[in-house]
Amino acid sequence: MVVVMKLNSSPEQIARVNGRLHACGFQTQMIKGVKRIVIGAVGDRQSIDITHVENMPGVEKVLRVMKPYKLVSREFKEENTVVRVGPMEVGGSGLVVIAGPCAVESKEQLLAAARAVRRAGATVLRGGAYKPRTSPYSFQGLEEEGLRLLAEAAAETGLACVTEVIDEESLKLASEYVDMVQIGARNMQNFRLLQLAGRAGKPVLLKRGLSATVEEWLMAAEYIVTSGNENVILCERGIRTFENSTRNTLDLSAVALAKTLTHLPIIVDPSHATGKRELVGPMSRAAVAAGADGLIIEVHPDPSAALCDGQQSLDPGEFEALMSELRPMAAAVGRKLDEGRE
Ligand code: PEP
Ligand code: MN
Repeated sequence: MVVVMKLNSSPEQIARVNGRLHACGFQTQMIKGVKRIVIGAVGDRQSIDITHVENMPGVEKVLRVMKPYKLVSREFKEENTVVRVGPMEVGGSGLVVIAGPCAVESKEQLLAAARAVRRAGATVLRGGAYKPRTSPYSFQGLEEEGLRLLAEAAAETGLACVTEVIDEESLKLASEYVDMVQIGARNMQNFRLLQLAGRAGKPVLLKRGLSATVEEWLMAAEYIVTSGNENVILCERGIRTFENSTRNTLDLSAVALAKTLTHLPIIVDPSHATGKRELVGPMSRAAVAAGADGLIIEVHPDPSAALCDGQQSLDPGEFEALMSELRPMAAAVGRKLDEGRE
């Protein structure tokens, strides 16, 4: 169960509640959220009088959460969480589009991409400076120089920006440059990195692991939130199945399902999900129809010259056409494409 303390509860009141739970044989964990303190308690519920805990000074409410994940569950919080990324809000009524190249390659490449996606209506720039590649012989990213270029391009175009972090060092550095850090599919169960990202203070874009169940994905998000960071955005990016004619299999049912299980925003990455440029448009539209709060799309000024994932990247013209298709799609599900210009 979860004991939610009042905003103004005193340290003594918190200690008394904690002591009471311990006395009844519960193991507890103090979770210092941005706004409130909650005490997660695991033990035999028969051994405690819950009404007694509910009536203790400083206690707001006691929740009996049946799911293994607690703080990210809809049982814990019914209303949608809205995550701020720079000036943007993800998880509200607007539909947010994050776009940019797979990897930051050069100043020219990134600026061209940033200008193109901004013109077409995207509000957040993506670009990898640390690339977790399957092959050690593939381009690994420009590292800190890439972060610097990303921050510069974002500032010049008025976009917010996001980049992937792969370890403690890249997390630390990236947090100085970007508005949101991404934990990629391959690191979804790097629990230490999840905890560090939870403490770093930036919003976290958490991609679903290649073979992660929805429950494992939400447990990964729980790691970040229990480390003190409520600002988590989930991203479905395709899972590995027997089907090998697409890079992955886009699991849109997981998006609709996760929406019922968690209050966190969920976006979709049709680029990595399909690996094929011609499928990015149809799957983007489908994701919007399924209730996604946004999209993350790979766009390169010249996909044929891309150092990474060119075959799934849209060129500026294709991206602009896709954005035009998304406006009526968003309206059809009662949302508005958030273009950040009002
Ligand atoms: C990416 O977004 O650049 C990326 C590597 O994605 P994923 O972790 O989903 O493979
Ligand atoms: Mn990529």
